[in-house]
Amino acid sequence: MKNDAEQLLLQKNIKVTANRLLVLDLFLQRDYALSLTDIENELPWADKTTLFRTLKTFQQKALLHLIDDGSKAHKYALCSDHCEIDRHLVHPHFHCQNCGKTLCLTRQDISVPVLPENYTVQSVSLIVNGLCSTCSSQQL
Ligand SMILES: [Zn+2]
Ligand SMILES: [Zn+2]
Repeated sequence: MKNDAEQLLLQKNIKVTANRLLVLDLFLQRDYALSLTDIENELPWADKTTLFRTLKTFQQKALLHLIDDGSKAHKYALCSDHCEIDRHLVHPHFHCQNCGKTLCLTRQDISVPVLPENYTVQSVSLIVNGLCSTCSSQQL
């Protein structure tokens, strides 16, 4: 019986390695985005260069996407199937200003505005800042 991480790697045509399984497992266990530092803290024995390369591979294979939530640390989140279907449709992200968690709002799409002639899109991002459910209940 293959686990979810292994199945996902195979599905995306990524060679299965122990390192990749561990990193992917971390993402599957969380429902929010992780920064490189978060991952390093979870896997303290892992080699930083290997980790970084793993994340790059996952990004290239549309398994992870990069989020710039304005907190300086770039974060990575798992892609839903729909990530690779149409790259021009992107989803917004939510950033909790109290605990710093960032998550995908995958059920909503934002469409890329029409650009002037000869302009090209590099990336589009929409970050919603606020409080997550845990943090807003603590504020009461
Ligand atoms: Zn929070
Ligand atoms: Zn996302």
